[in-house]
Amino acid sequence: MYNYNIGEIINALSIEFVAIYLRKSRDDKSEEDVLANHRLELVELAKKYNLKYVIYEEIGTSDSIEFRPELKKLLREVKNGVYDAVLVIHPDRLGRGDWADVGEIRKAFKASNTVVITPQKVLDYNDENQELANDMDALMAKHEYRLIKGRLKAGKIRGAKRGRWTNGVPPFPYFYDRNTKSLVVDEAKLPIYRMMVEEYLNGTSLKDIAVKVNKMGVKTHIGKYWSEVKVERVIFSEIHLGRIIYGKTSGSGHKNKPTKPLEIKDRDEWIIVENCHTAIKTLEEHSRMLAIKNAKQKVPKRARNGVYALSGLIKCSKCGYSMRMNNKKTVTKGLKCYVVKCQKTDPFGNQCGHHGIDADILLEAIENELLLYLNEIKSFENPQPSNQYKLDDLLAEKRKELKNAEDGLNRIYNLYVMGKINEEVMNNMSKEQEAMVIKIKNELREIEENFKEVKGISKEERKERIEAALRGLSDNTIETKELNRLLRLIIKEISYKKVQDEVTVEISFY
Ligand SMILES: [Zn+2]
Repeated sequence: MYNYNIGEIINALSIEFVAIYLRKSRDDKSEEDVLANHRLELVELAKKYNLKYVIYEEIGTSDSIEFRPELKKLLREVKNGVYDAVLVIHPDRLGRGDWADVGEIRKAFKASNTVVITPQKVLDYNDENQELANDMDALMAKHEYRLIKGRLKAGKIRGAKRGRWTNGVPPFPYFYDRNTKSLVVDEAKLPIYRMMVEEYLNGTSLKDIAVKVNKMGVKTHIGKYWSEVKVERVIFSEIHLGRIIYGKTSGSGHKNKPTKPLEIKDRDEWIIVENCHTAIKTLEEHSRMLAIKNAKQKVPKRARNGVYALSGLIKCSKCGYSMRMNNKKTVTKGLKCYVVKCQKTDPFGNQCGHHGIDADILLEAIENELLLYLNEIKSFENPQPSNQYKLDDLLAEKRKELKNAEDGLNRIYNLYVMGKINEEVMNNMSKEQEAMVIKIKNELREIEENFKEVKGISKEERKERIEAALRGLSDNTIETKELNRLLRLIIKEISYKKVQDEVTVEISFY
């Protein structure tokens, strides 16, 4: 006898953030779309009750946890108390293998107070004395749900954060709502966004879309004009599908450091939370746009002409040898440019073997660093020397001055050692002379820094080169050879290191 429907229980327990676990059972046999139907049913259930969800979909049919990588991943999260509940088509999808496995699964749910929801009922594994899970409906009937609710919410802070917007400025045409900590569609801007999507689906180029929006007088969310890159970014963004994605990159970019740890992770490792805010394009539209994009870019822009954008710029951080590039065909991304593992061998035939890397990671780091460099130059206040030789002369002069001052200090010590002056006189004289040495040293350092700044190229010219390189990087139509030329005008060399999952890119500029 059921007194409560699932919706009532979900509301009563304030369930908000769930995982959907999908697995084909051996009994499902050859029916191809069984899993698709289950997916649809559970997604509809989640949407109906306004639940944010992450999907875990197992490929194999094994009952054993060992051969169910998605379940392993899910159980780890369940143990950590990330989810309020896990949605499955039937409890047997979680486990009915050997008893040890079932015990482990049950323990994870119990320890973290996570309930199981099927399209028919809500199950709670918490009861100490029960081998089987409790049907929540029975507990609800006993008015125990307040207690259960408190227990379910304890320690679920981490999960609650997921599905909230924490990524800074929201993308056009969303805005951030402080109260719900989520994204809300700006209804006035929505038609512009829809127009961009529809124009692209009708074959309009990104450039023409950008021009059209600019002519309408609509700026980006930070008040800038639209460019093809900016249009591309918003129309292809998965955020506009209602998703928030976590763990896409690892490492945090520190703005004022010369290095930038930056790693784009494998999509399998991302956490994709669905139903976080209103979707403003459909999955079908999104896929069609991807197909159009794919057809347009059979050959990636970076890999044209056989000359790669980064050729001649990458040095191995282990051995200093120049690293080569290669194009690789990948299943998921098509043709992509990679830096090849270091081929340098030592005199004994041992290969250096410093690992290769996706060239896009380096290009992104370059773009970021160039922007920082440009800002630095703009804020750098130094009088522009009329020519380099004058600075050379000044530098030589200051170095000589410093040497004289240091010699003077030594002479004072010698006078004392030789007994020609007493300690008090020595202290007074040396104090003065030491101050002089420090003063000259500082002056020298300042000149050296300026010298570094203007060495060979004037400030204005350097600025122009950086701007040209940045334009090259965001130009989809540029020849790779030309991009390489522009980058080489301003970049001396690039090296990178990878420690565990974190990539650090070091760029040295002219
Ligand atoms: Zn090497």
